[in-house]
Amino acid sequence: MATQEAKTVDNADELNMYKAVARQFEKAAPFVDADKGLLDQISACNNLYSFTFPVLVEGKVQMFEGWRAEHSHHRKPLKGGIRYSLHVDEDEVKALASLMTYKCALVNVPFGGSKGAVKCDPYRTPVEVLEKITRRYTFELAHKNFIGPGVNVPAPDMGTGEREMAWMVDTYSTIHHGELDAFACVTGKPVSQGGISGRTEATGRGVYYGIVEACARDDDMDRLGLSVGTEGKRVVVQGFGNVAYHAASILQKEGGAKIIGIGEYNGCLYNPDGIDIDALQEHRKKTGYIQGFPGCEEIEDPKACLEMDCDILVPAAIENQITSDNAARVKAKIVAEGANGPTTPSGEEILLSKGVMILPDIFLNAGGVTVSYFEWTKNISHMRFGRMAKRFEVGRDHRMLDLIESVTGKPLAADRREALASGPNEIDLVRSGLWNTMADAYDEMKEVMANKEGVNDLRTAAFVVAINKIATSYEQLGIFP
Ligand code: GLU
Repeated sequence: MATQEAKTVDNADELNMYKAVARQFEKAAPFVDADKGLLDQISACNNLYSFTFPVLVEGKVQMFEGWRAEHSHHRKPLKGGIRYSLHVDEDEVKALASLMTYKCALVNVPFGGSKGAVKCDPYRTPVEVLEKITRRYTFELAHKNFIGPGVNVPAPDMGTGEREMAWMVDTYSTIHHGELDAFACVTGKPVSQGGISGRTEATGRGVYYGIVEACARDDDMDRLGLSVGTEGKRVVVQGFGNVAYHAASILQKEGGAKIIGIGEYNGCLYNPDGIDIDALQEHRKKTGYIQGFPGCEEIEDPKACLEMDCDILVPAAIENQITSDNAARVKAKIVAEGANGPTTPSGEEILLSKGVMILPDIFLNAGGVTVSYFEWTKNISHMRFGRMAKRFEVGRDHRMLDLIESVTGKPLAADRREALASGPNEIDLVRSGLWNTMADAYDEMKEVMANKEGVNDLRTAAFVVAINKIATSYEQLGIFP
């Protein structure tokens, strides 16, 4: 019994995300040339608003717990999602807020990190109650200046999406009637409510671009015994929510990868010949489950996907999935963290000792906040991307094609000409900006690994890059002369 209790305590410590992020920070800090006091300031969570609020549910008052953590104010506004979950607590919100700070710094998104949560079950709570919760939560944030286009800008996270963001912007605009930039108080909104094309797929697409960048380097692929590129890679994805679905679908359709396993909260699917992800999505929409999809072996244990034989494992569901308990049995050569905090520090040590390449969460899932930044920029500029330049670019491309035709004497077919001279739409620009952002961040991490002796893994490199930028910005603010 005593051993069991001790094990539980150990485990509780390992599974505490706040402590995990602190360990990640401490591992990277010695490689940053900054004052100890400044490093303490960077790692500390600046503000936490923790509150309860009442909502009338079926004629009775029910109390809900809510949080909004503001980790760092070195850049404003602060940015980060709102999580609806029964398992959320204060430490988790603070940890997730700090990950947002490092994520934004790494991918050059000029925001401080924040995160919010409400303890509720988003899947079993009636929609009208969810709406009341969301509106009341927004009101509480507005009341304490924890939301606003220049102050703190929430976004979707686990258990929330476009719908909740539309309720939030509506509530905020009601309170701040006439505020010109009110749309920019929250991102991840429906396109018709000031959102941006490509925000829904953004985190999954960012996961894809991050994997593409990692798989493009022949020295790394040689070391792992893999071929260069994503084509034909055997991939297992844990999760089938927004991030996991888009990551899997884009990896399959654009990257030519073979998705051989999918894990959900209630079991896994396995098919060594590949699973058609869009067909599986249709099946799940119709039946409510991934189970029953033709051609797949079904495994009851939801965590079995983590141990499947594959080239790339994408944990894109929840935190604390790869731990000291199962890391030794992970067979993937690359672990690509789509979720926030899916690998515990002890799990990571085991993976690294086996030579596994870990694409860390603060890099790999930064696509969401990157496109949120584009949405916020669109909102404060009050203009859709591409609106000014499109017709100009189409005209210029046609003139160029006319010239090529006259030199070669070969006219282009009309459909080919149109494809070559179409000019970018908002979605094209969003995807281009996102890919560039992921590629630059990957290069920055690799540069640290190449130039800092002792930095041997991408997570430590990502933290070094991020902490350096935050330290510089604090120094330039003049707080630490
Ligand atoms: N919830 C997402 C994340 O963890 C997106 C945050 C945002 O767009 O502000 O990165």
